[in-house]
Amino acid sequence: MTPLYKRIILKLSGEALSGDRGFGLDDQTIHEICSVIKRVNEQGVEVAIVVGGGNYWRGKTSTLMDRSTSDNMGMLGTVINALRLQASLEEMDVDTRVQTAIEMQQVAEPYIRRRAIRHLEKGRIVIFGAGSGLPYFSTDTTAALRAAEIDADVILIGKRGVDGVYDSDPKHNPNAKKYDSLTYIDILNQGLGIMDSTATSLCMDNQIPVIVFGIDDPTNLLRIFEGETIGTVIG
Ligand code: UDP
Repeated sequence: MTPLYKRIILKLSGEALSGDRGFGLDDQTIHEICSVIKRVNEQGVEVAIVVGGGNYWRGKTSTLMDRSTSDNMGMLGTVINALRLQASLEEMDVDTRVQTAIEMQQVAEPYIRRRAIRHLEKGRIVIFGAGSGLPYFSTDTTAALRAAEIDADVILIGKRGVDGVYDSDPKHNPNAKKYDSLTYIDILNQGLGIMDSTATSLCMDNQIPVIVFGIDDPTNLLRIFEGETIGTVIG
């Protein structure tokens, strides 16, 4: 059976990897997520992952240093996560390559678009580390950029603690309403914090559909490929 999407960008926030700890890495959580990624890959889906770094550091939270330095720290955090995901996937015998947008060739391949596509075509999972390599950007924007570059069919954003996009924060407002679908313009106009405006604009300009879903139950990812309506579809 032909999968629903042939090539995807899976965006995992750093927090998705930290489980209930809220910081750093949780081995069991990572194992569960990687098991599901393996199953998706086995269906013949080409999977590229953009991983965040918020489980260590977010550039804009620091007031004690210049933003570029702080963002560089954030990007390095994403590389730790990329290597951790690779280790878990390889333990499950899944061929995986890490490519970083900041060169560190002793650690991982540099980001080379054509090579990334070649890996995907061979069935390898490609994990993009170090974001876009540029300060003032986010890994959501990186996901949009890489999706456009590698011609991905969809961006799947796995969120922790929430199962889609709401009109207000469901953790604070019990009456918050979940959206099944939204347009990019809705997100921009309503200032919905699910994706930053740079990422949203990039997706809008390049017509890249996005699905925001809850990663607390990683099998949600499989359900998307089974055609279930999960999370919020942005397009
Ligand atoms: N970052 C950056 N440029 C990028 C991607 C990320 O400077 O292209 C930095 C930024 O400081 C950001 C941090 O890396 O806060 C971690 O990424 P992000 O906040 O997107 O991670 P997530 O919230 O998805 O875990």
